[in-house]
Amino acid sequence: MEAVVLKPGREKSLLRRHPWVFSGAVASEPSVAPGATMAVRGADGDVLGYGSWSPLSQIRVRMLAFGRDTVPDADFVRRLVAASVARRAGCGAARLVNAESDGLPGVVADLYSGWVVCQFTSAGAEYWKWTIADALMEFLPGCRGVAERADADVRAREGLARGGFAVLRGEEPPEFVEIDENGLRFLVDVRNGHKTGFYMDQRDARAAVRSLASGREVLNCFCYTGGFGVAAAAGGARSVVNVDVSEPALALARRNHELNAQTSQTLQTSQTPQTFVCADVFKYLRTCRDEGRKFDMVVLDPPKFAESRSQVMKAARGYKDINLLAMKLLRRDGVLATFSCSGAIDEELFLKILAEAAADAGRDFQVIGRTGHPFDHPVSLAFPEGRYLKGEILVCRG
Ligand code: SAH
Repeated sequence: MEAVVLKPGREKSLLRRHPWVFSGAVASEPSVAPGATMAVRGADGDVLGYGSWSPLSQIRVRMLAFGRDTVPDADFVRRLVAASVARRAGCGAARLVNAESDGLPGVVADLYSGWVVCQFTSAGAEYWKWTIADALMEFLPGCRGVAERADADVRAREGLARGGFAVLRGEEPPEFVEIDENGLRFLVDVRNGHKTGFYMDQRDARAAVRSLASGREVLNCFCYTGGFGVAAAAGGARSVVNVDVSEPALALARRNHELNAQTSQTLQTSQTPQTFVCADVFKYLRTCRDEGRKFDMVVLDPPKFAESRSQVMKAARGYKDINLLAMKLLRRDGVLATFSCSGAIDEELFLKILAEAAADAGRDFQVIGRTGHPFDHPVSLAFPEGRYLKGEILVCRG
C-alpha cells in the first residue's frame, strides 16, 4: 500500500489518536488519488495508521484508523456509519454523523424527519460519499432519502467543486421539512437554509432559554429561523423581538412562530406577541440603547466571528461589542444567553470577554448555566478542535 512518511518526531499526535496530519509533518508523499486511503508511516517506517489523502489541503491526511491492524475499506466505513446512526437511535431530528468526532473526517449527516442532508468537506469524505449515502439508507430505520449540500466554502480548500443541493439516494425531500425539537415544530429549508438547514447544535440551549423565559420581554438577536424565539414563547415569554439580517430567515421564523402558535401542545406561544426585525444586530442594539429600551432576556447567537486563529483578536472585539450593548439593555435580574461558535475562541477566553464587557457596562453578572454540544454533536477527546460551541447563561445582579 502507498504510504505517507512522516518527518522524525512528527508521529506524536498520531500516537495520541489525533486525526490530522499537517503538510509540515510530511517527509514523502504518496502518488494516490485525492481522497484515497493510504498508510501513514513514521520516520522509522512503522505503520501508525491509515488515512485519506488530501494533496491540496494543509491537512494532508485525515485519519480513519490507528495502528497497523485495521486497513479501512468500504465495509469499515459502512460499519462506522452504522455505529454512529445507532448512537442516535430513535431520534427524529439529530446529527447522525459528526465528522472527526464520529471517526468520519469531513462528514456531516443531519437527519430531519426521515430525510438526511450531508456535507462532505474533505477529499476523503468526498471519496466515500456514495458508500456513506448507501449506508445511511441501509442502517437508518425509516430513511426516505439522502441528499448533499455541496455549497460549503471549505470544500474549495480541499480542491472540491462547489455545488448545490443534490439528492444522492432515495426520494426528493419536500420544500420544507417539518421537524420536532423538544416538542416544538420547525420548518427546515434543506435546500437554501444555512449549512444543512437548521442549527440543531443549539437544541439544549433553546431548552435552557425556554425554561427561563416566563414573563420576560425577550430580544432574540441573530434569530435565523426563530429557534430561540419559539422556545422563549413556549416558555411563556411576555413578548419576543427577533432580529436578523436575512429576509428569508425571518420569513421562515415567522412561519415557525405561527406553526407553534396553532398547536394545542404549545398554547403558550400563541399568547406571546412576536415581532420580526430585519436589521444588523450591531446597529439594532445601538438603536435600542439610544431609545432607552429595556429587556428581561437577550439571546445573542451570532455567526462564527473567528474563522481561524488569526482572526481571534478581531472576533473578540465583535463579541465584546454586542455583549456589552446587550448587557446595558437588560433590566436587573435580566438574563443574557450568549453564545460563540468560533472554535478558535475557547471558553476561558469567551468568559474573559464577557467579564470585560460587564465591567465596561458597569453591571454585575453571575453565570447560572452553561450550554454546549448536545449528545448528537459529540466531541472526541482526541480532537479538541471539534469543540466549537460555547454558551453562557448570565443573570444581571445589578
Ligand atoms: N439563533 C439561530 C442561529 C443563528 S445563525 C437559531 O437558533 O437557529 C446566525 C444568524 O445571524 C444567521 O441567521 C445570519 O443571517 C445572522 N446574521 C449574521 N450577521 C448578522 C448581523 N450583523 N446582524 C443580524 N444578523 C446577522
